[in-house]
Amino acid sequence: MSPVLQKLVDEIAKLPGLGKKSAMRLALHILKLPEPEARALAESILQVKQRLHLCSRCGNLTEVELCVICADPRRESGLLCIVESPQEILRLEKATGYRGVYHVLGGVLSPLDGVGPEDLRVAELWKRFETEVFREVILALNPTADGDATSHYLLRELKQRKIPATRLARGVPIGAELEHVDEVTLARALAERTRVDDER
Ligand SMILES: [Zn+2]
Repeated sequence: MSPVLQKLVDEIAKLPGLGKKSAMRLALHILKLPEPEARALAESILQVKQRLHLCSRCGNLTEVELCVICADPRRESGLLCIVESPQEILRLEKATGYRGVYHVLGGVLSPLDGVGPEDLRVAELWKRFETEVFREVILALNPTADGDATSHYLLRELKQRKIPATRLARGVPIGAELEHVDEVTLARALAERTRVDDER
């Protein structure tokens, strides 16, 4: 195979969920694209890398210092929802009428994969408590084993700080990733979030 094509296949195959076969199919598809379209694709990849970064407050994706949610004075700043990734923010915004603010952890604790609190935006979370006042913290992590362990860890820390905490109601099927939960279920899970004082 041509070395440049091989290189493209190798790069695409590094993306999650794509094997060598799919990578080859996509590479051949890109090869067939008119040049302006191929250029637009390459440029969008560069632009998200160059322009997007994490909101300095919550960790959401933004092109400026603060994301649109943190910068919006109409959001209820005393209500904080903790999520794994910016993708969850998009889903909660679309599916629910949530008007509070967010904090993106950037993953969940995973001892088996060597992911500890220092690998997540946990220090940034506690730093926020120094300057912001939260009347309620909502844990909206995925109900997987690692997500649950992370929720428990955060609940213990929140309890020490005497911050009332809730988490999404278990309308979310056990083990289901929020990504696969329909919007009605997600909206209900947020509305019926439960106090978790007893669990910690
Ligand atoms: Zn933000």
